[in-house]
Parts: sequence; structure tokens; C-alpha cells
Amino acid sequence: MSRVAETSLPQAPFPTVVDALRHHAQHQPERRVYTFLSEAGEEESKLTFAQLDAQARAIAVELKKAGATGQRVVMLYPSCLEFVAAYFGCLYGNVVAVPAYPPEPARLQRTLPRLQAIVKNASATKILTTQAIKAMVGFFTPYAPELGEVEWIATDAVDVNQASEWQRPNIGPQTLSFLQYTSGSTATPKGVMVTHANLVANTMALTSVVKTHRDSTLVCWLPLFHDMGLIGNVIHAAYVGFHCVLMAPTTFLQNPFLWVKAMSDYKATFTGGPNFGYELCNRKVTAEQRATLDLSHLETAYNGAEPVRYETLERFLELFGPQGLKRSAIKPCYGMAETTLVVSMMTSDSKGPILVMADGAALERNQVQPVEGNPVGARSLVSSGNISTDPSQRVLIVRPETGVRCASNEVGEIWISGPSVARGYWNMSDETEAIFHAYLSDTGEGPFLRTGDLGYLREDGELFITGRWKDLVIIRGTNHYPQDIERTMEQQHPAMRPGCGAAFCVDVKNEERLVVVQEVDANKVTDFDGLLEKVRNAINQSHGVQPYALVLVPPRSITKTSSGKIQRRACRALWLSNEMEKVHEWRQPELAAE
Ligand code: ATP
Ligand code: MG
Repeated sequence: MSRVAETSLPQAPFPTVVDALRHHAQHQPERRVYTFLSEAGEEESKLTFAQLDAQARAIAVELKKAGATGQRVVMLYPSCLEFVAAYFGCLYGNVVAVPAYPPEPARLQRTLPRLQAIVKNASATKILTTQAIKAMVGFFTPYAPELGEVEWIATDAVDVNQASEWQRPNIGPQTLSFLQYTSGSTATPKGVMVTHANLVANTMALTSVVKTHRDSTLVCWLPLFHDMGLIGNVIHAAYVGFHCVLMAPTTFLQNPFLWVKAMSDYKATFTGGPNFGYELCNRKVTAEQRATLDLSHLETAYNGAEPVRYETLERFLELFGPQGLKRSAIKPCYGMAETTLVVSMMTSDSKGPILVMADGAALERNQVQPVEGNPVGARSLVSSGNISTDPSQRVLIVRPETGVRCASNEVGEIWISGPSVARGYWNMSDETEAIFHAYLSDTGEGPFLRTGDLGYLREDGELFITGRWKDLVIIRGTNHYPQDIERTMEQQHPAMRPGCGAAFCVDVKNEERLVVVQEVDANKVTDFDGLLEKVRNAINQSHGVQPYALVLVPPRSITKTSSGKIQRRACRALWLSNEMEKVHEWRQPELAAE
């Protein structure tokens, strides 16, 4: 048999993730599926396909005994293989997993509300966790009594010998596999209902474009409770049947070198993460560390989940190219929980990131006019991949106010239909109706998913994401993308922490005015007034906007989601309520006549 025939997926995809894992457990039982690396980057735990299958069966049996079949069960785990086994245990038991993040004892005020909202919305009656976290329940219940009313099950205490009692439940493509709660960048998290068919469609689309197969190797530091870590990595590996090397996000954040080192050590072919991960490597990995690496096996290093910055990718290529990193491996992509995961991805024959310089003034009127070079006021747009990733999906650009399709060079809201679009939001029928059941107002075509994201679709299928509709800063009828203004501010001084700013509008005397908040390393600044004057001039010059207020705040005070995305609306609320801790603030003086 040829090597290709051995390693490629069967012609017909497995109908569910359970069928895929069962197949691999029978056909390659002793091969490694997951390795988990410790904070020091050493192998801490590992699972073969047969071990994972046995643990999943045993946990499924436990869940059945607890009466959880068909119910929603919240999963609270740190990054670890117990999470992975429990997740598959839910799939094997026809239990709707609801991955969430354990509250951090030192930051309960920030981390507990998300969990409470999820437990309530999902009407979960059980929480799956580890013995260590279960022992801490009494610590959370004074602040969230409802967490004491649900049953806590420690899956790392389940006897693996009961695996033999497992009987395959009646699950099929249309069975709800789990609820993926959105990050909560723009609103309270919503539970996206993901079926097995959605998982299969999206995984097949992904593998067809990134060409993963049973000999692929994946490295991942992303949070496992979030779609990019869970679907793009954990499920991707179990479905296709290859080795996945995991580490905790904190391991990566403390020592970004461990990510690239793992790629090199394991000859990884597939990895990725949001832009800030690449930025961290650019800044933190030393020349000596780089010299030890061999990244020549990497075929895909995807970049998605937040705006892709061209400079970050070029710098990463410049620094790691000499270590064998191929330009074609750098693959920006775009997706969201509502589409299971991926919508667009650079194709496998791509030659690296695609940049378009667009006229700034035209962009403010939603028009994309490519310009040569980098003239003053031009904005850089990076393609977030090609929509040919999944030929069965439709991607339209639509005017969000009127619901009619945009002209070919126009920016509008991205609307999607296809087999990866999830079923809706759990227990939120109004939101489901508004977001998942959109119809074009002129032709009546639909239903489409409204993504809330703005973009431009080039005729060759390259999709450029320009921002979120809800975050758009609209001043005197002109559209400004907050990330452009944030970047202008952060570039004015090295003390400004990159990627840690928030630009938004507030109503001042019935006029929309701009406020920009930025984290700063205060000890690196001597003249705050001079600095903010420089920022004011730069924003005025680059964007034609007079800011109303510029605020410098201490590190880590810009509110972000658990996956690291800026929550501009939460920042705005904090600023308006005057509860923001500030290092320095400039506000436009009141005019005497007012
Ligand atoms: P919530 O929906 O709760 O406000 P969220 O939208 O951040 O949170 P996710 O589903 O985790 O929740 O993230 C998907 C969003 O991430 C997309 O809708 C888009 O706004 C953003 N995103 C993903 N990929 C890209 C990209 N390549 N460029 C810019 N933004 C991206
Ligand atoms: Mg969203």
C-alpha cells in the first residue's frame, strides 16, 4: 500500500468524532495521540489512542451512572490531559460538554461572573473537574452559592476498568456535541450549539486546506476551553489520527521560547495562535535560543482569532526564516465559534501573507482602493485567508444597515452559510433569530449567519477582515477602526505596551467623541503631558480626529477576554463609571463659552 493511502483519511469522513476516535483506537492503538508538556517544557503526561479511548469510555460510564445523559455538564479544568479525556468522555456518553475556565482565586471578581453566567445559561446540573479543583468548591460557594447546588464529579478519580461497561449511545451527525461559549469580547458569552456534523464539516475543510494526515505533528499552547485550542487542535488530532503536543497557555506566556522549541523538538508540521503569540516570540526569544531551532518541518503556522498584523508576520519570518521556517507556512486565518471554527485560511499553495495597501480616506467610506507603496494615510490590510477553504460554504459581504450585498470593492458585514455554521445559541432564541437567521433584504436569500465582522472579499476569494461592526468608531459620519487608532497611540513611545490599548466612542453633548486608553510602563516615561500631546497630534494627523480624552493606565488593566481579546465595551463602561485606575489622563478642556 502506498504511504499516501496509509496516512490519508478514508474517502467518506467518519460521521461523528466518536467514530473517528474509535477507529484510531482500533487501527493504531499504541500510537501517541497527546503529549502534555510541563512548565519546564518536559513531558508531563501522555496518552495513546487506546488509552484515550479507554478513559473516555470509563468517564462515559460514570456520567451515565450519574444520570447525565443528554444533559449539559460544565467542564472546569486547567490545561491538562484530564480535560481532554473528560471532553471525549462526554462525547462518548452523549453528554453535552460545556468547556469553561476555572475561576482564579486571586481574580474571583473578574473570573467568577463568566462561569456563573455559563452555568445559569446552560442550566447545568453537574460540573466535571479534577480532584484538586473539586477540593476548592468551598472557596467559590460563598461568592456563588449556586455552584454548591450542582454535583461536582472529579474525572481523574474514575476507575478506568469500568470502560468495558460502555455501550455506544445513539449519537449521529445531528447530535449536539457540545456548547462552545464565545469569548465575550463584545457581550456576555453565548453558548454556540455545535453538532457532530458541524465538527466533521469544519475539520474536513481544515484538513483539506492544511493537508494534515496521520503522520502530522501538532504543537499547541492555546486554552483548551476555547474553540481554536479545542477544535483546531485537540479534535483535529483525534479526528485525523495524529500526535498533538500540548502545553498550558501560562507555560507559553512565561517562556515563549518553549513554543518554538517544542515545534523544533517534535518536528511539528502544524501550529498556530493569535497574532500576539508571534509578537511575543519576536520580542522574547533570544538570538542564542533561535540558533538552536529547526523549524523546517513546519507546513502551517496559522494566525487568527484577532487582527493579523503584517509587521508581526514579517518580523517573525525575518527572525525564524534562518531556522528553516518557510514563508509559505505562515497562514493567516479567520473564524469564530458560530462557524464551529475556521471560515478562511491561506491555501496550501500560498506564498506567504498577502498585503494590500488601501487608501485611508476611501476606507473611511467603506471603499477599498488599493494604492502603490505606502503613501501618507494608507492602511495596510492583510488577507485572513481564502474562502475556498470550504467550497460548500457561502461568504457574502453585506451592508449591515440595509441587508443588501455590497459592491465588489466595498467593505461590509461578513455573512456566512454552510455546513460549518452551528445550530444557534443555547437558550437564547432572540439572539439566535437575529444572528443565525439573516436574509438578504432584496432577494430574500438565506438563512445566513451575521458575523458582526467587517471585511472585504477580493474577487480571487481572499478575505480581508477590517474590524468588528460593534467596535467601529464613527465620528462625524466617518468610520475609524479602533485597532488603527490604538496602533497610532502605541507607536508614539516604547513605554506603551503593544496590543494593550482600547479606542472607543463616548457621547459628549450629543456628539460622538473619541477616547483612547493605553497601558504604559510608567517608570519609562518622564514627561506625560508631552507624551500625550504627541499622541494627540499623531491621531489628528493620521486619522483626522481630535481625541476627547487620552488615558494612560497601569499594565494589565485593559479588560481582555480569557483568550486575550480586548473588551473595548467593558473598557468604555469602566471609563464612563470613573472606576478606571489611571496613571495619567488628558481631557479636552471645556471651552469657556460652553
Ligand atoms: P463575543 O462573540 O462573545 O463578543 P468573540 O467574537 O471574540 O466574542 P470568538 O468566537 O472566540 O468570540 O471570536 C471570533 C471573533 O474573533 C471573530 O468574530 C472576529 O471578530 C475575531 N477574529 C477571528 N479571526 C480574525 C482575524 N483573522 N482578523 C480579525 N479578527 C478576527
Ligand atoms: Mg463573536
